Amino acid sequence: MTLQYTPIAVMSLLTAGLAVVLAWAVWHRRTVPGRTAFAGLMLAAGEWALMRTLEAAAVEMTAKIFWAKLEYPGIVSVSVFWLIFVLRYTDFGSWLTRRRRHQLVLWIVPAITLALALTNEWHHLIWTTITPSPTRPTEILIYGHGTWFWVHAVYSYTLLLVGSLWLIRAAVRSYRVYRVQSAVILMATAMPWIGNAIYLTGLSPIPGLDLTPLSCVLTGLLLSWAIFRYRLFDLVPVARHTLIENMADGVLVLDAQNRIVDVNPAAQHLIGAGPSGLIGQSASQALAPWPDVVARYCDQRDVQDELVIDSVQPARYLDLRISLLVDRHGRFTGRLVVLRDISERKRAEIELQQANERLRERLAEIQALQTRLREQAVCDPLTGLFNRRHFFTLAHQAFEHARQHERPLAAIMIDLDHFKDVNDTYGHAVGDQVLVAAGQRIQGNLRQTDVLCRYGGEEFAVLLPGTALDPAHQVALRIHESMVQAPIRAGEHDAVISASLGVAGLADDVVNLDQLLVHADLALYAAKRAGRSRVVAYDSPTGRRIHQETPPLEVG
Ligand code: GH3
Ligand code: MG
Ligand code: MG
Repeated sequence: MTLQYTPIAVMSLLTAGLAVVLAWAVWHRRTVPGRTAFAGLMLAAGEWALMRTLEAAAVEMTAKIFWAKLEYPGIVSVSVFWLIFVLRYTDFGSWLTRRRRHQLVLWIVPAITLALALTNEWHHLIWTTITPSPTRPTEILIYGHGTWFWVHAVYSYTLLLVGSLWLIRAAVRSYRVYRVQSAVILMATAMPWIGNAIYLTGLSPIPGLDLTPLSCVLTGLLLSWAIFRYRLFDLVPVARHTLIENMADGVLVLDAQNRIVDVNPAAQHLIGAGPSGLIGQSASQALAPWPDVVARYCDQRDVQDELVIDSVQPARYLDLRISLLVDRHGRFTGRLVVLRDISERKRAEIELQQANERLRERLAEIQALQTRLREQAVCDPLTGLFNRRHFFTLAHQAFEHARQHERPLAAIMIDLDHFKDVNDTYGHAVGDQVLVAAGQRIQGNLRQTDVLCRYGGEEFAVLLPGTALDPAHQVALRIHESMVQAPIRAGEHDAVISASLGVAGLADDVVNLDQLLVHADLALYAAKRAGRSRVVAYDSPTGRRIHQETPPLEVG
């Protein structure tokens, strides 16, 4: 086989070499999505170009046709690899990634085309005529195209078009964030179309040179440049766009003038704006329903806070994060606002808080109830003074203490005089009030350490620790004085009362508490017998009641 030098052959060989280099360079980068398809695209274009080299370099017509047929594996694969690459790269190829079987569908037409090209002599469906160019017969063959060639052409252009549109769409979407990359992608996409247009309009610098493989490789070159220069595929802006679009969190990008330059559907939903509305608006316009939020965060650069939107029912709780966006030189370019709806969590928290509150209230109620129970256990319900049982508990302790430490101790028994008359005159209810007041009057004459109780009915008992008989007698006199000094106001009535008091002190013959109380009782009876409204002290050594004269009852 003779080979000749032609410009087409040289051009095609360079194209093939470049294609292989690009395929190798990109395929090496493991992080590039669709790198296999990209390498496939480059290798297909390269194969096409290489066979085109041999076709152009061959001199004999049969050899030329032989190489022309071998261009077909490349020709039929280019558009399929292109589409797969674009879908993979833009992350919309998930159906391709999940089921490789789907890809096979794309290869049906190319497989048929290839088979028909290799067997063209039998059916002429690809080429109807092949004639040498009248001007350069050894260089260029002119192919008359058959039916299937056009079928394949339509198929290829369709895939190419779909891929291009898809890539343009993705580039436009990410334009705001990745300006240069998007421009490069657009240029890369335009290449095959420009190449084809030049070929079809006959404007090719080298007549007869099909620029399609070269333009494919130029596309690859631009994309690779983007890969290496801008780390295009490493950043995967389009995938990121998809992620942000589908995020549950609302994302807003504000520029330095607080205008919204990007917003995702979640943010639109949270703000309650229509799908088209927000971009280009100022933040204060867009967030007009939330004037407080705008006022509070308008000038802040780094924020994390919780917002309550109570203009809607039920109120909505949002977690707000604002972070600064800076360019490569560290200059402030805008702010990223992320809004997360935390209403569910917040409501759960509030419910928990309320449940806690209720529990606390219940606990307080129970504690109050317990306190009351404890009081009821030791107190007399009418007068609030200690009851008899508790009096004895405390009195026993006081008695033991006095005995052990040889300290004085005294007891006073008090009985209201003719109390039946009070009841009979004013009624039982008034009698009750008088009892309460009498208790208070007694209490008013005692120290903190003295123990007073309602002993029963209208009788009271007092134990005075550390107090000998004489001082106790003085206390009893004061109590008596307080009883008689003024009538007791009960309802609309003024009840005049008096009391008889018996006092006893600890002495050698007093062996226990009961005995001390019996002595006080004996003195009390003596007071009653002596005419009431007076104080009588029990003299232990003589066993006699000591009648100390007290002021007689003055009525009125
Ligand atoms: P005196 O002690 O001077 O001999 O006459 P008295 O009328 O006080 O007689 P006594 O001590 O025997 O009677 C007690 C009276 O006190 C009988 C009862 O009507 C009255 N009394 C006892 N407990 C209560 C009470 O809780 N409320 C009222 N309103 N009266 C009571
Ligand atoms: Mg009595
Ligand atoms: Mg009485």
